[in-house]
Amino acid sequence: MGNTRRIAAVVAGMALIVPLSATTSAQPSDDRTVYEISGTSAEDRTALARSGADVLGVRDGTVTLIAGPAEVSAARAKGLDLTELGGVEELLAERNPDVRTSANDFPAGDEDYHTYAEVTEELERAVAEHGDIASLSSVGDSHEGRALHLLKISDNVAQDEDEPEVLFTCNQHAREHLTTEMCLRIVERFTDGYGSDPVVTELVDTREILVVPTVNPDGAEYDISGGYYHGWRKNRDGSGTDLNRNWGYQWGCCGGSSSWPSSDTYRGTSAFSAPETAALAAFVDSRVVGGEQQITAHIDFHTYSELVLWPFGYTYADTAPDMTREQAQRFQDVGTAMAASNGYTPQQSSDLYITDGSVNDWMWGEHGILSLTFEMYPASGGGLDGFYPPDEVIEPETRRNDEAVQILLEEAGNPMP
Ligand SMILES: [Zn+2]
Repeated sequence: MGNTRRIAAVVAGMALIVPLSATTSAQPSDDRTVYEISGTSAEDRTALARSGADVLGVRDGTVTLIAGPAEVSAARAKGLDLTELGGVEELLAERNPDVRTSANDFPAGDEDYHTYAEVTEELERAVAEHGDIASLSSVGDSHEGRALHLLKISDNVAQDEDEPEVLFTCNQHAREHLTTEMCLRIVERFTDGYGSDPVVTELVDTREILVVPTVNPDGAEYDISGGYYHGWRKNRDGSGTDLNRNWGYQWGCCGGSSSWPSSDTYRGTSAFSAPETAALAAFVDSRVVGGEQQITAHIDFHTYSELVLWPFGYTYADTAPDMTREQAQRFQDVGTAMAASNGYTPQQSSDLYITDGSVNDWMWGEHGILSLTFEMYPASGGGLDGFYPPDEVIEPETRRNDEAVQILLEEAGNPMP
């Protein structure tokens, strides 16, 4: 289905750059509160999201969200029972250590997470050590001018071979730092393991693996600026666009995003108004060769809730224009197989709540790509803490998805009905 795309306008004058010295103790002012509500339906959660609440996680009908007084009143009017977990500022202060580290690193104790500079180093190292199977480029630049790195892994990496291409994208949402580590694990596994691990070797020989470890580097850097966590989700253009509401399939159609710039689910001024989504979409568009999209499968990693999600998000319906019963069944089959491997819960995206302008809806609706979202560890998070698990979980929680990643790479070779 067609979409209108415009070249992203980079309004430099609107950039909100807040330099924070290492000595400041000021946290962003925020009078909103984190709540948990159990026993909610998808319709309840869609109503909560539409009221302006920032949904952090959903698991077994229990939703964790950030709400202000108006959203709380709206929820109570619907008969929902809210349990207060604490103020946003208070919860962030609890998570942030007293001792500030340098202005551009993760908080003390979480240094194993990779900053943007460290992500860049890791990718450069992978190419330096495995130049025969790995090449580094970018799909474009972020609003603040950071390269949106693209690492390609395949045998004969310099050639565009006729092999299924599989895309992994991470960190559309700034505070979901564990996802960046997930993409780095894929890079490490399929470069270091080549030649020794037979499964890895076979997949590298027969696939073209494309990894974008951070789609939102500006937001991720801002989220750790000053050496403490800010709870930031969006990009850094003006008051921020929610990149995963900015994609051009049914953009803004269905009350699954916000038109308010201050909202955490602000969809932007138009589809692909964010330079990050525009660049990634242009790259995917460029993979149509001889009338055929070369990318056949995709995972976009998020945190948290431990879910495997498939399109569509804009409608509760299982089938729709651009989604036949057979196609919906394949999403369900692949999603369920992947979830069986990692213990996540598989479901259609809209089973959580309605979203529009998401990456999966566009990848599938526009390009026919088998595109899923993983919501990673933890299953539930006690509020904002869910975004900031200690760095000790990086290894087990990224390894946990090895088999699911392998399933997708194998499925990439099978045709969609
Ligand atoms: Zn997310």
